[in-house]
Amino acid sequence: MYYSRPFPSPTHFDSMPFASLGLDASILKAIADQGYTEPTPIQKATIPSIIEGLDVIGVAQTGTGKTAAFTLPLLTRLLRTKSNANRARVRCLILAPTRELVVQIAENVAAYSRYSGVTVATCYGGVSERPQIAALRKGCDFLIATPGRLLDLGSQGHGDFSAVECLVLDEADRMLDMGFLPAINTIVRALPKERQTLMFSATLSREIETLTKQFQKSPKLIEVGRRSNPAETVTQLLYECPGALKQVMLHHLLKDPALAMVLVFARTKHGADRICRKLAGEKITSAAIHANRSQAQRQRALQAFKNGEIRVLVATDIASRGIDVDGITHVINFDFPDQLEDYVHRIGRTGRALAKGTAITFITRENLGDLRRLEKIIGKHLHCGKLPGFDYSQQAPARVPEDFVRERDPRAGAHSSERQGRPQGGRHGGYRAAQGKYRPFGRPGTRRQGGPK
Ligand code: AMP
Repeated sequence: MYYSRPFPSPTHFDSMPFASLGLDASILKAIADQGYTEPTPIQKATIPSIIEGLDVIGVAQTGTGKTAAFTLPLLTRLLRTKSNANRARVRCLILAPTRELVVQIAENVAAYSRYSGVTVATCYGGVSERPQIAALRKGCDFLIATPGRLLDLGSQGHGDFSAVECLVLDEADRMLDMGFLPAINTIVRALPKERQTLMFSATLSREIETLTKQFQKSPKLIEVGRRSNPAETVTQLLYECPGALKQVMLHHLLKDPALAMVLVFARTKHGADRICRKLAGEKITSAAIHANRSQAQRQRALQAFKNGEIRVLVATDIASRGIDVDGITHVINFDFPDQLEDYVHRIGRTGRALAKGTAITFITRENLGDLRRLEKIIGKHLHCGKLPGFDYSQQAPARVPEDFVRERDPRAGAHSSERQGRPQGGRHGGYRAAQGKYRPFGRPGTRRQGGPK
């Protein structure tokens, strides 16, 4: 994918609260088009430091406006030093864990740079390499990539990374969870040492701290809100629900038209498909996104959800990562997350930016232990009660109970391979690279000195 924009004369937006942050006038104009009137807290905190050229660690959850928090100042920096000399090279490299997130960041950069003639390319797995190789050959101001695909292409000698001025690791915690560390290490070793490095993560774990020591120079830590704390704009409701009644409870909830745009989380791909099938039986429009869906199918489902053609999107954790859909009114945790930190990511899909949202979680008896552990992580008591007006004495439908299926479904384990980044070949790519089976990353002859050993 390759976006290129003309270079019109910018108008001035000096009265905007964004103007005081030092952003380029053409970007202020584009922000005004987006309808942003004031910067979010993470944007206020990071934009001036990034424009100044500092390395930054931003601890912020998704939905806080963190993409703009790093893309807006980077655009400003790139525009200030715009030069044609490096046209075939990549100037700013953004690594993100999933293809969906890559596409969303690229769309944001394209929107924010619509008046500034910046070029943007993307690299991610599951689609043809050819257009991505062509874009790398051409060079771009911004390359946004998943580590697995970029490692594949870089190892084949595609792309010139010798002039990268800025590296961003977005959702760094998630990239580590997905096993991308070896791929990231290989990629970063091929970049110039003199560069700005920004790292964004929802949590600040020991692994993340190690990564910043390795890749950043005296980084400025910017933390917005408490670590691992769900966005404050989300109302969290937890309802007791026997496993066998989950689907009935979902239908009961969906009788309320206030649940207009609903993201449902399922634990497995199989479970997600099953929920959709049952919703179809109730004439409720829905679609599922998970790792068994092709990239085109996922994009179509997301688009239909964004356009309001379907009311419910059912997702597994990995497929949902980074979904940037405004207006999600409710997130429903049909299945409790396996990884407790996913709870925070899941509910952050609603209540994005400054909007309000509601997260509803079904709690079975088996989930109670995890619920207590989750409370410790987020540092907050979560009250779990009965759903008002729901008939708990009703017979479960004459179907195999959900929990029974989950425990015995041989495919249930497929989710864990999905979690480890298999769709992008990231894990395998990373390990193989670490074992030296790939050619060195980066175009031969253009690597900086002290590149891969
Ligand atoms: P993010 O945390 O980057 O995933 O952003 C979440 C959502 O907030 C996206 O839909 C952005 O378009 C939107 N957004 C970002 N900055 C602002 C802002 N200053 N005002 C309103 N919405 C924003």
